Amino acid sequence: MKKNILFLLVLLAVGSFILVGVYLGRNTPTQAIDVTNAVCSISTTAVIASAQGDVYAPSEIVAEDPDLHYLAYYSVDGEQIEDPVYESIPDHLLDEQKDASLQNAGWEVFTDLISPEDRQMVTRYNVFTDGYSNTLAAVDQVKEDPSLWILEMDIADLEDRDALLFTVVHEYAHLLTLNASQVEPDADLVNDPFNQDLQKEKAAACSTYFAGNGCSYSDSYIHAFYQRFWLDIADEWARIDALAYTSEDLDVYYEALYSFYKTHQDQFVDDYATTHPAEDIAESFTYFVFGPKPTGMSIKEQKIAFFYEYPELIALRERILQNACSLE
Ligand SMILES: [Zn+2]
Repeated sequence: MKKNILFLLVLLAVGSFILVGVYLGRNTPTQAIDVTNAVCSISTTAVIASAQGDVYAPSEIVAEDPDLHYLAYYSVDGEQIEDPVYESIPDHLLDEQKDASLQNAGWEVFTDLISPEDRQMVTRYNVFTDGYSNTLAAVDQVKEDPSLWILEMDIADLEDRDALLFTVVHEYAHLLTLNASQVEPDADLVNDPFNQDLQKEKAAACSTYFAGNGCSYSDSYIHAFYQRFWLDIADEWARIDALAYTSEDLDVYYEALYSFYKTHQDQFVDDYATTHPAEDIAESFTYFVFGPKPTGMSIKEQKIAFFYEYPELIALRERILQNACSLE
């Protein structure tokens, strides 16, 4: 299965912090969980399996850019999307651009899975496509008000249900861990995401974990996660991450990151999690939702168990699983 992570990496590299889910390869299934609902339409084993595979193995990297187009920008009003604004696009995408029902279907995957009380930060919905696979979904902050968020969905990727469920929960994990109650909204950063000097300046002024889009609060999930799991590896990771900005050849970065994953494989739920601490917590959260409660003591199991320390997150997991089990 082809994956193109270059788009993702470029976005991360420029610090724009659009956080994307990629369609990952399939590999060994893990054990199923007990979903509280006895009649469940999804297999959590298959959802987890959809995320596994060596995405960052240099042999898996697809070098060329996917052809990415935004089709429509919607406002969100409660459960509904409305007032679409249409982007000019190539002729071959006109049918998709007119397909309101398909665009609604993407939105409904998100609203069916995430309960209304858990997604109040999402006030816009963008429809894009880069063709089948590649990027499935993303979230970003609203420039005019960084306490509000945008969900973005690729309407070409609604068919593969397992990968889509995994990706939607992964994207939701970004909303959960980066929203205004967790990370102080920073309009400077959101409006100037390419400015590396600004990133450094803001990071230096932040005494807690600097999440890229702002300074995390001391009681935030991501600050606690970083303090517990990243302090030992942060310097090594930062040297590798810098290659994404400084190397003429991105392969140098990919190879170093994959080697980092191989060295620390017991610490990460999959190789995608090594791309950034914000991706690590999002990926670990998704394994927490769809995977079994860990019984071992490896660091990657501790990362999943981390979320069980928060009663509100156990309740959130139950809501998401109940919703997932009720999907058509
Ligand atoms: Zn992500």
